[in-house]
Amino acid sequence: MTKIEERIKRVNENITQACEKTGRDASEVKMVIVTKSAELDVIKEVINLGLTEFGENRVQQLKKVAANIEEYFEGSENNNKKIKWHLIGHLQRNKVRQVLHLCKLIHSLDTLRLAEEINTAGAKLNLKADVLLQVNTSEEPQKYGVPVGAAIHLAEQIVTMPNITLCGLMTMAPLTKDKNVIRRCFVRARELFEEIRGERIVGPEFTELSMGMSNDYEEAVEEGATILRIGSAIFSG
Ligand SMILES: *Cc1c(COP(=O)(O)O)cnc(C)c1O
Repeated sequence: MTKIEERIKRVNENITQACEKTGRDASEVKMVIVTKSAELDVIKEVINLGLTEFGENRVQQLKKVAANIEEYFEGSENNNKKIKWHLIGHLQRNKVRQVLHLCKLIHSLDTLRLAEEINTAGAKLNLKADVLLQVNTSEEPQKYGVPVGAAIHLAEQIVTMPNITLCGLMTMAPLTKDKNVIRRCFVRARELFEEIRGERIVGPEFTELSMGMSNDYEEAVEEGATILRIGSAIFSG
């Protein structure tokens, strides 16, 4: 077994354990592999292991890596058409058009103006963009994400837009060793998720809760995450 295989196996085992602890089915939890710090050769290795969902936090990097991967697998039996890209980092409005057709899911919608830009670009490209609303549950002022108190109103505005599908929420816990602080952010996100769903302002596609990274994915699973975004636990152990 290679190092990468071992790390993926360990992460999967930890996810399974966290699921068992809380009575969840492991099939409810999906892992997005965050490639931002990884060498191309290592990314190819992960793809060859059968993983298909990848995330980048910058538009430029996503475009570059996606193009490299596509070129590498062109004509090979490994069907890279199955690879799906997630944009997980802050999205500037002037980059929307470059990235919309490349992304399966945008995790970082956090303002009305960005939503309007995505909706307009989606109409021009004749597509419906799948997005998550990023919520600032840690209340750190320097963080991206809509404040918790403004999230429902923004969700109501987004669901009126014909070229956007609101698929759920995303949040990031603060960088801290204090697991209680981290867990509180995840709980806040889950409660908001349930509140938005309960009020029926969103459609049946509102199913995803993207939270948990290398340092806190077990807590995220325990608190209800459906998508984990994991980079360093796989690429730098
Ligand atoms: C980098 C990044 C991750 C992955 O972080 P790791 O700690 O390497 O797992 C997840 N989400 C976002 C938004 C990121 O920028």
